[in-house]
Amino acid sequence: MASNTTQKAIEAARHCLQQAQTVACFSGAGLSAESGIATFRDEETDALWSRYDPMELASIDGFMRNPAMVTDWYNWRRSQLHEAKPNAGHRALAEQTELRQITQNVDNLLEKAGALPEQVLHLHGIIDANHCMHCDYTETDVGHTQPLRTCPNCNNGYIRPSVVWFGESLPELIWQESYRLCENIDVLLVVGTSASVYPAASLTDVARKQGATIITINPDPDNPTTISNSHIALQGKSGDILPLLLKGLTLRSQ
Ligand code: NAD
Ligand code: ZN
Repeated sequence: MASNTTQKAIEAARHCLQQAQTVACFSGAGLSAESGIATFRDEETDALWSRYDPMELASIDGFMRNPAMVTDWYNWRRSQLHEAKPNAGHRALAEQTELRQITQNVDNLLEKAGALPEQVLHLHGIIDANHCMHCDYTETDVGHTQPLRTCPNCNNGYIRPSVVWFGESLPELIWQESYRLCENIDVLLVVGTSASVYPAASLTDVARKQGATIITINPDPDNPTTISNSHIALQGKSGDILPLLLKGLTLRSQ
C-alpha cells in the first residue's frame, strides 16, 4: 500500500490526469517486476544484467560468437515469460482502452492483461517473435523454446529473436509513432524505467520540452528519471500505485 506522502502525490497526479486532454504511458521492466520478470538494472536479487554480460547476450556480435548460448538464454527468458501473469499494474493500464502504451518491454503482459495489440507500441520488439538475419522471413507466436536453426526460407541466416539488440535501430514506424505521441501530449506517465537505454529514454525529454507534465512511478528514490525529469514522482511499486492512480479515470491518447 502507498505511504501517506505518496497518497498526497497520488491525489496531485490524479488531478493532473483528470485535466489532461491527451496522455500516454511509457513503461519499462519495472512494470513487469511484480510478475516475476527480472529487470536489468535493479541491484536487488535477480537482476539479469548482473549475472550475464549484456553485450554477449543482446548484441549481434555476441550472437555470432556464441549463437547456441544466446539462443539458450532467450529460451530461458521465454519460459520465464511464458509462465508469467500480468500484475495489478498491467491490469490497471489495460483497462484504459484509449490510452497508448509505449513500452520498452519485450514481454506481452500488457496484451495478456487485455490491452489491444494496436494500443501497445513495443519499442524494443517482442520476445515471442523471430526473424531471419539475412532475409525478411518472420515468425510470430513462436512459443517458449526454440532451438538454434537456420532459416527455412533462405537456408542461409540464423533465426533470431525479434528483439532490438544493443547497437540496432528501433523499429522505425513504432519509433515515429511514439515520438509523435510524446510531442503532442499533456501528460506522460513514466512507469518502471531507469530511462537509461537510448533512444527510447529520450521520449521523456521530448514530452517535457514541449510542456508535458511527467509523472513517474518507481520505487527507487534515486532513479535518474525521477530526479531529473519528473514533475510528480510517485515512489512505490507500479502494481500498488497504478490501480490507485487510475481508478475511475478515462485516459485518452491522440
Ligand atoms: P531497467 O532494468 O533499466 O530499470 C527498471 C526500473 O524499474 C528501475 O528504475 C527500478 O527501480 C524500477 N522498478 C523495479 N521494480 C519496480 C516496480 N515493482 N514498479 C515500478 N518500478 C520498478 O529497465 P528499463 O528502463 O526497461 O530498460 C532495460 C531494457 O531491458 C529495456 O530495453 C527492456 O527492453 C529490457 N528488459 C525488458 C524486460 C521485459 O520485457 N519485461 C525485462 C528486463 C529488461
Ligand atoms: Zn532467411
